Amino acid sequence: MRTSTETTLIHNGCIVDGTGEKPIINGVLIIEDGKIAYVGSAQEAPQVSESASRIDALGGTVMPGLVEAHFHATYFNIAALEDLDIKYPVEYVSLLSSVNARLALECGYTAARSGGSLFNVDFWLKKAIEEDMIPGPRLASSGREICSAGGLMDWNPEFRKIGMEGLVFIINGQEDARKAVRALVKDGVEWVKTYPTGDAASPDINDHHTLCMTFEEMNAVVKTAHNHNLKVTGHCRATEGIKNALRAGYDCIEHGTFMDDEALELLLERDVPCVPALYFEKASILLGPKFGLPQQVIDGHQETLDGGIESARRILRAGGRLGMGGDYGFGWNPHGDYARELTFFVNDVGLEPLEVITCATRTGAEIMGRDDEFGTLENGKLADVLIVDGDVVADISVLEDRSKFIAVMQGGVMKAGRLADPFPTAVNREQ
Ligand SMILES: [Zn+2]
Repeated sequence: MRTSTETTLIHNGCIVDGTGEKPIINGVLIIEDGKIAYVGSAQEAPQVSESASRIDALGGTVMPGLVEAHFHATYFNIAALEDLDIKYPVEYVSLLSSVNARLALECGYTAARSGGSLFNVDFWLKKAIEEDMIPGPRLASSGREICSAGGLMDWNPEFRKIGMEGLVFIINGQEDARKAVRALVKDGVEWVKTYPTGDAASPDINDHHTLCMTFEEMNAVVKTAHNHNLKVTGHCRATEGIKNALRAGYDCIEHGTFMDDEALELLLERDVPCVPALYFEKASILLGPKFGLPQQVIDGHQETLDGGIESARRILRAGGRLGMGGDYGFGWNPHGDYARELTFFVNDVGLEPLEVITCATRTGAEIMGRDDEFGTLENGKLADVLIVDGDVVADISVLEDRSKFIAVMQGGVMKAGRLADPFPTAVNREQ
């Protein structure tokens, strides 16, 4: 991804740097060659040359780009399980994923960690974004997910004679687990997404208290993935599934819904981050009836929501790390609504806005393993910067409104927001 070669000075803004430190009122941010060269008070800011471009933040907020830590570029308007896989071909999924990537960037998400991808779309999407062919977040890719036979994602009855070829590897035992990971290694992805547990979405046989993989299978996934420097995460709701994942050496926990003391201890022992993705549960409860979700499913989502809130709060209060991401791409939880997760964590979970911003920026970059490059506004880091027309700390829901973005920058290059060029020159014509 190209970076700016100019000097840019952003002034008249309140700087929230993503570390959790208190905001700098009337701050200045200077960008040189795509990287942050100064962040601090206006009084102490060094002089910049006459030719430097200046951006007035209009008294709003200057902050790091957001990191969507559970992004599904390939999910689109899912209302039923069929929509996840068998309804659409890879061609259509690929096209829509590029639309979702652009939308995420326009919403202020300058980076994203995938929570699972149909086919091998993520890998190629990432390549197109990195080569500036498609605007989108800096992506940590995943590929087809892994679930044991009969588990949450293996929902087609046998008589249909179809698997979930685009979405999951259905495995039986450790050999299959290794085989699936090896296929992902060859596909070039960075994250292996698994299904240790079920979900409220499947109340009959794979609900949120059931296990969908054995410890041995999960262990085989981790050993194989780590050998090739891939990271492993998993959909973990049931308590025992969370513990299995942590004991097997998972690098991240998705949801972490029903944590007991022992699970929390295991999580803190290795400081494993957790991405609760909770607004999805609330949206399922609020809008589920409109989409025809059965009452039993909605009740399950309520139990998941209550358990998830409690666990998330405990993790953060005990010194653990939370990433902000949200399973967007469902009918009731569409792409573009990403920042609702942040508002939810302030209003419904009771975290401080600065805590939530740190989760959504620094922790997101840490989960991606790229916190030395971005995630905070600090000297030497890539200038992935948002300028927001509004006080984000006073009202975090400002981030839900795309029209409030004055600038969305990656590496100092203006990519979206009011100041962005609506007709950027295509990269291949520039050369
Ligand atoms: Zn997901």
